[in-house]
Amino acid sequence: MLSMEQQLLIDIKDIASIAIHCTRCGSETVVNASNEEAGVPEKCSCCREDFAALGLQTPTRTYLTALRALSKLKERITLRIVKSGAL
Ligand SMILES: [Zn+2]
Repeated sequence: MLSMEQQLLIDIKDIASIAIHCTRCGSETVVNASNEEAGVPEKCSCCREDFAALGLQTPTRTYLTALRALSKLKERITLRIVKSGAL
């Protein structure tokens, strides 16, 4: 059986923002990833649901902190997404 592998390389410095997908209304609230002063919003920008109550605020904050820390090594780190599958 033949298999195929696709790779997508993402440079950390190219990640400008992250989007929080509200599990209540489905909308996206965008956070600027490169602005160190930009925090994670407490509420959905559309329905005003509390992100902490939805379990989204803490994981998003952790992800954003990690992303910003990695971006300081942006010349040395590249994200590599590999998708494998059979032909
Ligand atoms: Zn919402």
